[in-house]
Amino acid sequence: KQRGGAGVVDFEPWMVERVMEHHRLRGDLETAVRDESLTIYLQPVVDLHTRQWEGFEALVRWPVGAETWSPAQFLPVAEESGLIVPMGAWVLRESLRQLAGWRDEQMGMAVNVSAQQLVGTDFFDITMEALQESGIAPGRLTLEITEQAAIQDLGRTASRLDLLRSEGVHVAIDDFGTGFSSLQYLSRLPVDILKIDRKFVWGLGQQAEDDVLVRSMLGLAAELGLEVIAEGVETRRQAELLLEYGCRLAQGFLFSPPRPIEELRVSDPFVSPAPAMPRIPFPRRA
Ligand code: C2E
Ligand code: MG
Ligand code: MG
Ligand code: MG
Repeated sequence: KQRGGAGVVDFEPWMVERVMEHHRLRGDLETAVRDESLTIYLQPVVDLHTRQWEGFEALVRWPVGAETWSPAQFLPVAEESGLIVPMGAWVLRESLRQLAGWRDEQMGMAVNVSAQQLVGTDFFDITMEALQESGIAPGRLTLEITEQAAIQDLGRTASRLDLLRSEGVHVAIDDFGTGFSSLQYLSRLPVDILKIDRKFVWGLGQQAEDDVLVRSMLGLAAELGLEVIAEGVETRRQAELLLEYGCRLAQGFLFSPPRPIEELRVSDPFVSPAPAMPRIPFPRRA
């Protein structure tokens, strides 16, 4: 059409290649999900006061040959093909299974959930089964939902989350501040935790707007009785400012990148010095 008229455009070799590539990727991912050959990296959620770990976030990875692929490389295909649904169910089961094997029984697990999973009719059952199977108390599980996912079907999302919360499961809004109309539907969504997107954490102490925004988000969360987790903390300065602004929990490369659980076992700060204060279960109910 772009060439004008009704001329027929032949497929160019690169077009065919692109389609084949996409097709292959989808097939390979389907196999990986079925064979459970995806893996999970865990990133600790750290108490900024004590530096103790309160929980983990589960982040899916795909080992491809010698490489380990990040979600950016395959989540779009997973979403488009619907594979995100069985993949997500596996992430829930596997991350809770891993949590059950962790020495500290207070530790929490946060799992990212996409809109497709959330609106699926069996999402409640899948979640409860994963909890029962692992023996993890519902209060130790947090489901992370992005603003974008939540607003796609606000009514259904809210009722699904309500049901899970009535069982004790916690809900976090992920990448908070990056969507729009945040404030309006925040009041309509049953949530416990706001995760401040790393975009805002990045400029702390350097870009005055970011300090203002982060402080406003902390103020808002306090008003609403929500817990806050700052994402993407990379520098001591950012951590210090977050503490100063009243943020208790954080994740980021400063503390630990996402890693396989075996690697985390070696560096768990909980094993070395005994914690100075009683540990607050993650996440703390407002
Ligand atoms: P997210 O849930 O907001 O996860 C945080 C991302 O920030 C992770 O990227 C993590 O590796 C990265 N990160 C952590 N600390 C730092 C830091 O200090 N600096 C920087 N620059 N980055 C940091 P990752 O693992 O590539 O995941 C990207 C996104 O993919 C996640 O964002 C989440 O939305 C999605 N995702 C990951 N696993 C799953 C899953 O199992 N299911 C679904 N539906 N989505 C997932
Ligand atoms: Mg997340
Ligand atoms: Mg996030
Ligand atoms: Mg993010």
